[in-house]
Amino acid sequence: MAEATIIDGKAIATGLRERVATAAQELRETRGIQAGLAAVLVGDDPASQVYVRSKARACAAAGLASFQHRLPADAGLAAILDLIAKLNADERVDGILVQLPLPSGIDPREVIAAIDPEKDVDGFHPVNVGRLWSGDPGLVPCTPQGVLLLLQAANTPLAGAEAVVLGRSAIVGRPVAALLLAADCTVTIVHSKSRDLAGICRRADIVVAAIGRPTMVKGDWLKPGATVIDVGINRITGPQGGVRLVGDVDFAAARRVAGAITPVPGGVGPMTIACLLRNTLLAACRRRGLPDPAAVSADVIKV
Ligand code: NDP
Repeated sequence: MAEATIIDGKAIATGLRERVATAAQELRETRGIQAGLAAVLVGDDPASQVYVRSKARACAAAGLASFQHRLPADAGLAAILDLIAKLNADERVDGILVQLPLPSGIDPREVIAAIDPEKDVDGFHPVNVGRLWSGDPGLVPCTPQGVLLLLQAANTPLAGAEAVVLGRSAIVGRPVAALLLAADCTVTIVHSKSRDLAGICRRADIVVAAIGRPTMVKGDWLKPGATVIDVGINRITGPQGGVRLVGDVDFAAARRVAGAITPVPGGVGPMTIACLLRNTLLAACRRRGLPDPAAVSADVIKV
């Protein structure tokens, strides 16, 4: 059997970022609105600093305004909520992103719940979670949205397809399952207490792996021709001591069985920031009662 088609997340994300930039420019030129994203970083976690900087760079490249707010690790809940309240009221801010994880002792749920749901570009607010599961329009979490866009870009038939989602986290597994359901898949979610993962995966037309377990999904877990989206990002140390990134799927083996597959890196990863930009643009329009820009509105099925 021929090797699987590689779903090129980098190229698909670049295309989406360009379309967001075009729509953002049109919004500026026709209505004088510059969509803006505010990032809140609490503490000095080095990885979080890198993420916030790369999101700011992506905003600049797409012509979106970005605002960075840094608070010390010991700022406390009241100061964080005070900042969120100001951003909720700030007309220049369409999207609010609180970089996770927050310092220990701060409950992320309390912080997320304080964000105006119309500015909740991470899609983690309970109102947006409820909208997603109810099938109502709302802001959809970025990585799951990226998964659906990759399936759509790969022309994967969705209606009636058997889809298995490995992982049930609030930020990946559950929203991916909700989106697949909205796209008329028959969805099974498996997790650490599930039995016979291999057998369940083997009947799937679509496998989405989001478990954080390096190369756990083997080639013989897959139905020939299945589409495999690997969300996992795992750092492993090789025999020579070098660190490399691998997904949750044994790529080399899966490639010989699957019909289409995302690589790690270069699959789901690049889609996340592109979808954050897309959400910021959508929030800027929806908050003002404007229609979704045509350049990005056909992107995600039923979202
Ligand atoms: P979590 O640790 O929050 O959730 C992992 C899920 O996998 C849980 O539901 C857990 O089950 C399940 N699980 C863990 N081990 C097993 C196992 N052996 N068998 C079956 N199920 C298992 O992870 P996230 O959802 O946050 O992330 C998952 C992966 O995706 C990670 O590698 C992460 O780095 C990556 N990721 C990538 C992103 C991107 O591309 N931009 C963004 C976010 C995440 P249970 O609920 O029972 O504990």
